[in-house]
Amino acid sequence: MELNEGKQERYFIVVRRSKNGLSRGSIGCADAETAAGDLIGMVYGGGGSAKSSGTVKKQDTYPLTRHQAQLLLFVSPASRRLELMCNVQLFSAICALAQDDLVVVKHKKDFQPCLVKNLIQIGKKDKPGVLQMLGFELDLVDTQHDILSKTTVPLPFFSAADIVQVAPSHLNTRQPLRDSVDLGLKRKAVSRINSMPALNSRNAKKGSIILNTDVSSTIQSLSHSSLEVGSMAEVISLNGLTVFGVIRWIGVPEGKRNCWAGLELDNEVTTCSDGTFGTKRYFTCEGNKALFVPLTNCKPDSRFLFIPNEIPKPLEPLSVTLLEDLNEDVPPVAEQDVLSHLIGRMRGIQGHFNSCYLDTTLFSLFTSSVAFNRMFSTSEDSEEGISNILRRDIVNRLRRTGFVPAESVMKFRERLGCKSFATEEKDPEEFITLLLKQVLHIEPLLKIRSCGDLAQGAYTHQIIVEKNQVRAVPSVQQLLEMSFVSSDLKFEEIPSCLIVQMPRFGKKFKMFPKIIPSTELDITDILHCSPRECFLCGHPAEYECVQCLMDHKLQPGKIKQYCITCNTQVHIHSSRKEHTPQKLTVPDHLPEDAPVQRQQMQLFAVLCINTSHYVSFVKYGPNPRSWIFFDSMADRCGDDNSGYNVPVIRSCPEVGDFLSQSEEEMSTADVSQSSEMVRRLLCDSYMCLYQRTE
Ligand SMILES: [Zn+2]
Ligand SMILES: [Zn+2]
Repeated sequence: MELNEGKQERYFIVVRRSKNGLSRGSIGCADAETAAGDLIGMVYGGGGSAKSSGTVKKQDTYPLTRHQAQLLLFVSPASRRLELMCNVQLFSAICALAQDDLVVVKHKKDFQPCLVKNLIQIGKKDKPGVLQMLGFELDLVDTQHDILSKTTVPLPFFSAADIVQVAPSHLNTRQPLRDSVDLGLKRKAVSRINSMPALNSRNAKKGSIILNTDVSSTIQSLSHSSLEVGSMAEVISLNGLTVFGVIRWIGVPEGKRNCWAGLELDNEVTTCSDGTFGTKRYFTCEGNKALFVPLTNCKPDSRFLFIPNEIPKPLEPLSVTLLEDLNEDVPPVAEQDVLSHLIGRMRGIQGHFNSCYLDTTLFSLFTSSVAFNRMFSTSEDSEEGISNILRRDIVNRLRRTGFVPAESVMKFRERLGCKSFATEEKDPEEFITLLLKQVLHIEPLLKIRSCGDLAQGAYTHQIIVEKNQVRAVPSVQQLLEMSFVSSDLKFEEIPSCLIVQMPRFGKKFKMFPKIIPSTELDITDILHCSPRECFLCGHPAEYECVQCLMDHKLQPGKIKQYCITCNTQVHIHSSRKEHTPQKLTVPDHLPEDAPVQRQQMQLFAVLCINTSHYVSFVKYGPNPRSWIFFDSMADRCGDDNSGYNVPVIRSCPEVGDFLSQSEEEMSTADVSQSSEMVRRLLCDSYMCLYQRTE
């Protein structure tokens, strides 16, 4: 074996789990390369000291500069290093940070604007086999008062992965930080360069420093630059509450001198108008929703956190080569990480060219649920086959990085086998059936027995009811039961996943103005050959009566099954004499007094439609408030031809609060007083997705 001896140190990061056990994200330094393409060198452990030496396949690594290696080494756990690298633009901006650049960091669960003060070397110096880590020393910026807060407790050193945004620098003096290599001290040895004089001029105000005007204006421009008509913005109102809305108008109103914005708020506020200000109309919206304020009072909607508008093209091919580990299924983002990992602009699946039916369906199916992961293990596709494209480029990427670019979705769309799916608007149910049946060859999710005949397979269930069969504001539970009973249907077995289509016709007409999406669906009484309780006394039921269903004395709308005794008694009554109760098929040898086990399924996503555009709500964990809202085309950057869509994920715990109420409260709630999210969930639902819980 011949070695290519090279004096130059070559740093790398491991992007694929290697045969000899190096985990993804490990950082190392190679000092030689074999003819066979193996790198010989060592890998750094915690603290930057050499942990192990050996060989690693070059194709399992990605090259780094020394500076990148030092920055990434301070990031832990190692898996976060790869995540950061996937965000190509952000990472290169972090590598180029200079003193006094403005950044946003995640600190104590909050997002904080900060100024870069120093780059800090951490680790022992001048010791062979040690690579010093690099961290950032930052100063907090108080955006309310344009001051630098000098906290009594010094801030910790931040790693590159703590930085979530880098503001474009307009400052005059940019001193590159990376020349500041200096001494090493004891345990947490640090070295730093001196702060700039401007930042040292302490103001009389205790504990704070007045920002120089350059910094102030940078913060100002960061806050306002991206605001234009159509932007989502927030305003702190006089009573201190933050209100959210869309900017509908910008200009100088009559009688004012500076630039004002007219916002259409998400919610009504009694002092607001319908688009008039003073005596003049500037735009038109619903009453009590138009708010006029100086433009400088508006900030970009903080619910879409800190991903700058001006990202040109979000991802470059680098990430594709980094993340093509095919043999693993990335688990869904953990509940406690969703808010930091998924919320914001440029999150989720990026929409493109009529793709919302598809983005929304994929997001709903895969963000939090693993019910469909089995489709990957059963498919025997080639590496570039469609199921692998779906798994690697969409599902794994969505869960690992929180963002799937439109290109990946387009590549997938083009492989769907039917040309119209790549270009035209479709319905989610069409797509689901095509995906599961013809592309992934999965057996039907539902086996439904009709009128006692043999069971038929289906992938979704379309609710079919008469309007007068259910309440004015029905729940999915009622709708499903009624749909099954009135058509004499039964589930042959408990489905692993149940996709229910709401009663609507086409895109416009909906049968019910509001539907309550039941968070738990009890299918015990619509299961074939399953033990059921008598509707009246709770003993094992042996008869079912369809005609009793709407009996106004017996809880109209509830399914009625009776034990032998109750069946006789109920049908003695003159009004029910004509009924023809059916004998139920029940399992043999049922113990008399065993309680009937309820079969329940849990809601994990709701697809909604409004004016031909699909969006979705996803429940991302067991906490009742763990709800997010996704729109693949929430905003657009640039013009129709050269621009791109901005997908947005919002947190909406209020949806969970609403759904925690009783059905009675939900059905009588005044949606005009509810948040926009609750209104959309209640009024626009198109499809509810349930999964089995163990
Ligand atoms: Zn009974
Ligand atoms: Zn009856």
